[in-house]
Amino acid sequence: MDDEAILGEPRVLRGTALNQAALKRREVFTTSYSPNLRYAWDTGEAIGRYLEELKQGRLIARLCRKCERVMIPPRIFCERCFRRTDDWVYVKDTGKVNTFSLCYVNWEVRRLNRPEIPAVIEVDGASPGMGILHLLGNVAPEDVRVGMSVRAVWKPPSRRTGSITDIAHWKPIRP
Ligand SMILES: [Zn+2]
Repeated sequence: MDDEAILGEPRVLRGTALNQAALKRREVFTTSYSPNLRYAWDTGEAIGRYLEELKQGRLIARLCRKCERVMIPPRIFCERCFRRTDDWVYVKDTGKVNTFSLCYVNWEVRRLNRPEIPAVIEVDGASPGMGILHLLGNVAPEDVRVGMSVRAVWKPPSRRTGSITDIAHWKPIRP
């Protein structure tokens, strides 16, 4: 890189479209690397209990008695009342679709022919607007509607790890 690029006006660099032929001719440098990285995360009191309960196939929330809200995911501190929340409350593993998206790209940025359907689920028993981001399943993309009732599809107990992915997805409750 010359000094002008560092010290002068920022240059606008035109992008280069990648294609399979260029990759085959090795005109593009590629590499793969699988780092063996481990990390630990302190969940805190509220999320720690939430994850433990998920492993048991239950959803738990926190109640703030002052503003009378049932909050999920649970938090120990109420951001409205600026005080510690009061109680643990089990909520249902059913809810309603608050919003959703049809996503044709997965986490590895690969194109999908059938979209994943991330959605915010308002959980029954929690206060209005309280919900969790998850995935819808057992439903055709064109049939998804805001407000539709859904139920959690839990992984078998032996495959649960204390993670939000202990719920495989949420499926419609057919009337
Ligand atoms: Zn409150």
